[in-house]
Amino acid sequence: MTDPPGVPLLDLTEQYHTLAPELDAAVARVVRSQRFVLGPEVDAFEAEFASYVGAPHAVGVASGTDALLLPLLALDPSPGDEVIVPAFTFFATAGAVWNAGFKPVFCDVDPRTFNVTVDTLEAVRTPRTRAAIPVHLFGQMAPMDEILAWAERAGITVIEDAAQSVGARMQTAAGPVMAGAAAPVSAFSFFPTKNLGAFGDAGMVTALDGEIAERVGKLRVHGGRQMYHHEMVGTNSRLDALQAAVLRVKLGHLDGWSEARRANAARYDEALGEVAEVLLPTVAPGHHHVYNQYTIRCRRRDELRAALAEQGIGSGVYYPVPLHLQECFSSLGGRRGRLPAAEQLCGEVLSLPIFPELGGDRLDRVAEAIQGFFGA
Ligand SMILES: *Cc1c(COP(=O)(O)O)cnc(C)c1O
Repeated sequence: MTDPPGVPLLDLTEQYHTLAPELDAAVARVVRSQRFVLGPEVDAFEAEFASYVGAPHAVGVASGTDALLLPLLALDPSPGDEVIVPAFTFFATAGAVWNAGFKPVFCDVDPRTFNVTVDTLEAVRTPRTRAAIPVHLFGQMAPMDEILAWAERAGITVIEDAAQSVGARMQTAAGPVMAGAAAPVSAFSFFPTKNLGAFGDAGMVTALDGEIAERVGKLRVHGGRQMYHHEMVGTNSRLDALQAAVLRVKLGHLDGWSEARRANAARYDEALGEVAEVLLPTVAPGHHHVYNQYTIRCRRRDELRAALAEQGIGSGVYYPVPLHLQECFSSLGGRRGRLPAAEQLCGEVLSLPIFPELGGDRLDRVAEAIQGFFGA
């Protein structure tokens, strides 16, 4: 008897095969046009993406990291200006703040939703706070209505890091709002592992505010709309036409993929609900979670991960080290014990396979392996 085949944490080839004719045609169209940087494909994708998100402006850039960096540069930082970021997120959120010339100030998160709250933000606010970047982690939005009201009272700019949450929504007093249309400016990543993934690096800034969009649009082409005339110092961070063409095809399938991820999550919730040692991901009331990751918590995380690996089941630890304890930020004085929820999560989180093409049989194998580990 042979062992059953393993279950990868993520398999991008399955999605490609279902769309190969459409994707190949889109790539061929760009190749035939020989228009590789900005141009009509990018214009069209920007318009389609803005309309999907419900934001009036969208500016295509080279990566999600740059989609954070350029709006931060547009704020024109003075030395010592601070930007609050969660300690529990992907490194890029804080790296962009640092590279823009701001001081990153780390805040804790709600250990159930993994997201920042008004309380964790307020705990680290100072008179130098210029902006805050709530991250919509793992596919669920941070509580934006409360955060925006807090920021307005405090005179702080809010930038959404929506890199993991394209298509996520939440109910607010003003009605439903999508990730990317809540704050004045938002950052998206189309890195291949995100819910809407390109064939390489790509990103997008969406904005409610035309002036910010205008500034970001200049910053991505070295600070000037007109060639060889520079109003500010920007960088080269444009969205490739090839990536835009691929993303235009995939955008039409995104809601279906999100539904498949949500169905997978519901099946895990059901299967793992009885395992007392495992904490399931929490969906906040009124939130539509799109599960870029399905992340459980348990004390014996490393043992569980090893046991899954032994059965060929992939899993991921996002993230093992909180940002305030990263070596590169040691000059900022972060100490163990300062942000207890973020620190605890780093020792307990485990992300399971959740990609849309996973299917019930493979998902059940993952769930059974977890039940087996805990003797359930
Ligand atoms: C992926 C990601 C980014 C950066 O996006 P890239 O396209 O990889 O540069 C930023 N923030 C978060 C939360 C991310 O997950």
